[in-house]
Amino acid sequence: MGQENLVEKLTGKRVAFVVAHQDDESLWFGGLLTELAGKADLLIVSVTEPMPARPDTYTRMKAISEVAKLVSGTHVCLGFTDCRAVERPESTLAEVTMAIAKHLREFQVDAIVSHGLDGEACDVYPTGHAMHKHVCLAANQAATMLRLDSYRRSRIPDATFRVEYDRNAKFDLLDCYAPQWSPDGYPWNETEGYEFMPYGSLSHWWFSQCAYRLLFPAQRITNRVLTRN
Ligand SMILES: [Zn+2]
Repeated sequence: MGQENLVEKLTGKRVAFVVAHQDDESLWFGGLLTELAGKADLLIVSVTEPMPARPDTYTRMKAISEVAKLVSGTHVCLGFTDCRAVERPESTLAEVTMAIAKHLREFQVDAIVSHGLDGEACDVYPTGHAMHKHVCLAANQAATMLRLDSYRRSRIPDATFRVEYDRNAKFDLLDCYAPQWSPDGYPWNETEGYEFMPYGSLSHWWFSQCAYRLLFPAQRITNRVLTRN
């Protein structure tokens, strides 16, 4: 059951991709996004605003708008602060849930695609991303509010789908975020005030170790997909 054709199932539907950050839609769901382009009404909801003092702080919004255009969809940013939600998860889960539900109700959503509860834990990020987990919970709460059926509620233990997709089409989405998701990456060392990773090869390493792996034609989506039927 979990291996059913997800693209077929979502064709003709109103599908919302609810993600923590600009770029998550392309990294984690780019294959599905490109396969659904022109076949479904697509809304990309990014929950947080770009983190300050990043090399791409001021280009991320433009990038995600370009991605939305490439898949014939629309984008809305809810403007939450990344760290704030992680510091006060209890108090902001309701706020994030309500904001997501409001937009998805207006969109008349049929299905939500969002992060996994593990926050996309992987080799380079074993604990997963706290905000991804947060958005996963909020998206699920919003789905309950909107009375969307859940694969979990219908006793499918883990909704795992394989999506066959055009690898180059996904590259086209990632290209919107260049130079971040390009093999050369950012000049992180030259970025004053940025506290994260002090080495310039991060993007390239991440790209080849993690994102690249996801670019193969069969994409495994462990994230919850919630639908109306
Ligand atoms: Zn993210």
